[in-house]
Amino acid sequence: MIQKRVAGIGMTSQRTRDRLVQRLKEEGIHDERVLRVMRSTPRHLFVDEALSSRAYEDTALPIGHGQTISQPYIVALMTQALIADGIPRKVLEVGTGSGYQAAVLAQLIPRVYSVERIRVLHDRSRTLLRELGLNNAQLYYSDGSWGLRQFSPFDAIIVTAAPEVVPEALLQQLAVGGKMIIPVGKGHDVQKLLKITRTENQYEQQWLETVSFVPLCSGED
Ligand code: SAH
Repeated sequence: MIQKRVAGIGMTSQRTRDRLVQRLKEEGIHDERVLRVMRSTPRHLFVDEALSSRAYEDTALPIGHGQTISQPYIVALMTQALIADGIPRKVLEVGTGSGYQAAVLAQLIPRVYSVERIRVLHDRSRTLLRELGLNNAQLYYSDGSWGLRQFSPFDAIIVTAAPEVVPEALLQQLAVGGKMIIPVGKGHDVQKLLKITRTENQYEQQWLETVSFVPLCSGED
């Protein structure tokens, strides 16, 4: 749970957050742990002040640099899929962006690593997560298509930008028994959100949903 008091977390937003959670339930999010965390996470702090009144709409919003904070339904869906068979101990997120997905994960999973290739976004999210007291989330500035080898293997990997094919490094850094949630495909609207499970000798793939993410880019910005 978020421990520290940050200016702007007020009761005014609690009612709108409750409404958002109600909507997520109606859309099929059933994991109480996910709903509880999304009810208490101040999404308005993760978007620009000018957009904070729209923070609890179930929609993606711009966060600058051509990037977006994911739609709450997608955050909930991906998180729900990630913890469905038990809470992973260590997760890697590729694409920190606003830090919102990382904040949700950090309230459910003991160790969260998240990488971002745009310096300004990385710096901003790191500051915000520290202010919120989410110290079990460690943020790195790097190209996440290479994963984060020094901390691998990961029990779970969540990718919040879409590559055309699943990066080989991420498959390798997934622990046996671990799972990856990743959107894959060219262009918007045609991406498939996949759940990939690593077994002893293969990777099993399950299609969860059709989604629209920003592309996974290579290199640092
Ligand atoms: N999880 C984020 C969603 C941000 S959008 C949130 O909750 O706000 C996806 C992010 O992935 C963008 O910030 C983009 O800069 C980042 N990204 C794209 N390609 C990347 C790469 N190769 N490595 C790390 N981050 C990447």
